[in-house]
Amino acid sequence: MIRPVEARINLRALEHNLQQIQRHAPQSKVLAIIKANGYGHGMTRVARALNSADGFGVASFEEAVGLRDAGISQPVMLLSGFLEAAELPLIARQQLWVTVHHPFQVEMLERTPLPEPITVWLKIDTGMHRLGIAPEQVRSLWQRLQDLDWVRKPIGLMTHFACADERDNAMTREQITRFDAAVNDLPGDRSLANSAGILAWSDSQRHWIRPGIVLYGASPFAGAPARDLGLQPVMTLKSKLISIHFVKRGEAIGYGATWICPEDMLVGIVAMGYGDGYPRHAKPGTPVLVAGRRVPLIGRVSMDSLFVDLRSYAEAQIGDSVVLWGDELPVEEVAVCANTIPYELLCKVTGRVKFSAAME
Ligand SMILES: *Cc1c(COP(=O)(O)O)cnc(C)c1O
Repeated sequence: MIRPVEARINLRALEHNLQQIQRHAPQSKVLAIIKANGYGHGMTRVARALNSADGFGVASFEEAVGLRDAGISQPVMLLSGFLEAAELPLIARQQLWVTVHHPFQVEMLERTPLPEPITVWLKIDTGMHRLGIAPEQVRSLWQRLQDLDWVRKPIGLMTHFACADERDNAMTREQITRFDAAVNDLPGDRSLANSAGILAWSDSQRHWIRPGIVLYGASPFAGAPARDLGLQPVMTLKSKLISIHFVKRGEAIGYGATWICPEDMLVGIVAMGYGDGYPRHAKPGTPVLVAGRRVPLIGRVSMDSLFVDLRSYAEAQIGDSVVLWGDELPVEEVAVCANTIPYELLCKVTGRVKFSAAME
């Protein structure tokens, strides 16, 4: 069998989502976040489609070099900074922006004179306690960076939110307050907002916004569909029905024999499993589109296939097209049914899936 599993990437939707976000933050420049292979969509094709973004954010040096090799000339920020002094000349040569989130990096910069200046963003921990320097250390570390000829001025200032997707969580307000107090009168661009921050906390927009998930057309908010935010899904994960059969009442379906047929019924088999990146924990009832009709997933998801209940769609045919998420079926809905978030589902589509991109 030629596996009918594919992911279609709608480049026009990417462009549309970028414009939509720019409309929400008209004063801000956009650092489009395309780490983890463009949230699973293909980093280079995403960067090309988002050509009008002012810069890109990635997690690693390898990702950044991949962009440079593909001819992407905008600023590229290494969101996780650097780990070894030996990376610094390479970062400078590739003209990458780098976050400094820990004092050890300031020491390395001091010990490593560079032939070309490097663009640095000081990342401040305002409450998430992942990467970032403590607010009390901002002044002294900023001054030490300021004293280095090979650090470009003014130094950028940034932080990251822990709970911006919860509109009534006071933590984001507190993080903004701590950030403003820590950087106070320092010069330089500010960057605070991820997708949820841009949409829910407009005073966090500042000079640079850092949208990720919204560019791919998924909502950062539980219970707020992306469509209501004016976003369009970028990835459509598709496959086909490869078998249909009648199963008698009382018979069990799939591994673990966990799902029992409540009556004689039609069961469909879809070529899509966790080996493709579909979540194994998607529970019975997770919606699947067969020839455009919503039917529920049943049984356990296998590596190469999953089962659907065809009682509501008896006309189904072997070869019918199946959509697992994307157009007409938001990935957020599937994520809820699998007890996870759309970010994870999009990132985890595996190399076995054929990707194609089009302006649709
Ligand atoms: C991943 C990431 C973002 C984007 O987050 P979204 O929730 O996808 O918008 C922004 N900033 C940093 C530092 C990140 O690591």
